[in-house]
Parts: sequence; structure tokens; C-alpha cells
Amino acid sequence: MLQLDKLALRRAILKQRQSLSTEEWHTKSNLIGDRLKDLSVFKEAKTVLAYFSFKQEADLTPLFAFDKNWGFPRCVDKSLIWHLWQPGQNLNVGKYGIREPQENAPMIRPQSADLILVPTVACDRQGYRLGYGGGFYDRLLSSIQGSNMTTIGIVYDFAFLQQLPVDPWDQKLDSICTESQYEQIVL
Ligand code: ADP
Ligand code: MG
Repeated sequence: MLQLDKLALRRAILKQRQSLSTEEWHTKSNLIGDRLKDLSVFKEAKTVLAYFSFKQEADLTPLFAFDKNWGFPRCVDKSLIWHLWQPGQNLNVGKYGIREPQENAPMIRPQSADLILVPTVACDRQGYRLGYGGGFYDRLLSSIQGSNMTTIGIVYDFAFLQQLPVDPWDQKLDSICTESQYEQIVL
């Protein structure tokens, strides 16, 4: 039942997200990017894990010009493998159609990052996240428990919901950033 709820919610939100005009997508992306770049946790971070926008996820490209060690994932089987990437370096298209660094790019241990910007389909007020259904970030976040990394879910206001259906394996985020707010989740 819960799975069905997640599936229906995922479909509805993805439909809404993909109906954004290009202009709305850019405007919302820039609002989120501007909010992120002013956060002390961003300013202080040396190594940041991020993502390349897919299916009108907030496009954070302007941030990647900041002087950080930027890590981006490749989907390999059921895991995310993280590599250093800088603007201008070549990318491949992975099996889900998501852009990813090349296999021979230097790798990053995700545990060594200070901050991760987590793509989401939706988030809720408790910090739970809805993804595409692969569980990639649940596995990643459970594997980095105990590290000092700050986790920020990136989500549009319309997909920042009161309460998502939650399964036992779902991992919480520390904070959420939308176009209009940055919210730290109180444990
Ligand atoms: P998403 O988080 O992408 O929205 P779900 O929460 O529905 O997707 O999870 C998708 C799948 O990932 C589930 O079938 C679950 O069994 C698997 N999964 C999640 N976390 C883990 C984990 N730590 N180890 C193994 N499998 C996991
Ligand atoms: Mg999940």
C-alpha cells in the first residue's frame, strides 16, 4: 500500500515538474542556487557532492563554478560511484539518461565530503525524501552515517510536502532547500 502511494505521488509530482516551462525551471533553479551559495555550510565546504539536473530537477550548474572539490555520481549496478569533476570536463550519459563523469575521472570517497546536495522528487517536513524509486540515495546515506557531512535535499516548493509515505529503509536529510526557504530539520 505504501509503495503504491509512493508510486502515485512520484508520478504526480514528476508530471507537475515536467510541465514547468523552461523559463520557470530556470527561475526556480536560480532561486535555489542563490539561496544555497549564501549558506555558511556551503561557503565553508571544501568538498561538495552534487548532481547534474535531470527531468527538470533544479539545475545547480552556476554553483559548480565555485572553488570546491565537486563530486558527481555514476550509477553502477545499485550504487553511486563518486568522481571529481570540473566545469569544462567531458561527461557521459549513464544508463538512466543522467549525465555522469567519465569512468577514469579521479574518484572521491563520499565519506570525505562536507556537504551533499541531494536531488529529490519530493521532501517532507521530517526530512524524508522521495526519489525515483531506485533507493540509490537511501543506500548512500545509510553507508555514510556517522560522517560529518551535511545533507541538503533540493526540492521545489510545490513538492515540499507535509508528510511522505515512509519505508523502514528511508533515510532522513538534515535540511531542505527550496526556492523560498532553507529549513533545518529538528531531530
Ligand atoms: P526512493 O528512495 O528512490 O524513492 P524507495 O525508498 O522506494 O525509493 O526504495 C527503493 C528500493 O531501494 C527499495 O526496494 C529498497 O529495498 C531499496 N533500498 C533502500 N535502502 C536500501 C539499503 N540500505 N540496502 C538495500 N536496499 C535498499
Ligand atoms: Mg527511499
